[in-house]
Amino acid sequence: MFNLILFGPPGSGKGTQSEKLIATYGLKHLSTGDLLRNEIAAQTPLGLEAKNIMDKGQLVPDEVVIGMISSALDNNPDAKGFLFDGFPRTSAQAEALDRLLELKKTSIAVMLALEVGEEELISRLLKRGETSGRSDDTNETIIRARIAEYRNKTAAVADYYKKFNKVEVVKGEGGIEDIFNALCAQLEKKRQ
Ligand code: ADP
Repeated sequence: MFNLILFGPPGSGKGTQSEKLIATYGLKHLSTGDLLRNEIAAQTPLGLEAKNIMDKGQLVPDEVVIGMISSALDNNPDAKGFLFDGFPRTSAQAEALDRLLELKKTSIAVMLALEVGEEELISRLLKRGETSGRSDDTNETIIRARIAEYRNKTAAVADYYKKFNKVEVVKGEGGIEDIFNALCAQLEKKRQ
């Protein structure tokens, strides 16, 4: 199995690049943002609880997202590998993911971390909000709250994987194809 984390702040291009990476490497895409939005669309109790939190730009509780990822791993026993997008977002989530993968006799091969400046993030998210239908992309105050959550809680997740020498930083500004090629080059290094 080959498992990778695509890491970076909101608006850094994780969704776009995930689609290209899963198509190229045959990985199963696990995006906690998408899983949560599916729950909201299906109007489940979990979705209703999550929507209030997401609309404030805050993180949903660790146990909720860890439970969703645990089920997704169990539901995909034949996957060649997983691409985690938007997860883990806290140190507790990172530790839980390591334990879940260990139970399946596998681990994270690499974390690819996209780096994008803050003003570029905000303009990308506001632009996405014009068409995405995502309520958390339409308001600059919510966008800034999400970036603050990233700085305060999520950035530390990269330090966790740095301890294991698993982090590769890739510049997330420029053309989509150029960024994709840079991600692939780092990924290939870890596949050997
Ligand atoms: P973005 O990366 O643009 O913020 P996501 O789709 O990854 O978009 O996340 C949208 C929202 O969903 C987050 O602001 C947060 O409220 C919630 N969310 C997604 N993943 C997680 C997670 N792993 N832990 C906690 N909350 C999450």
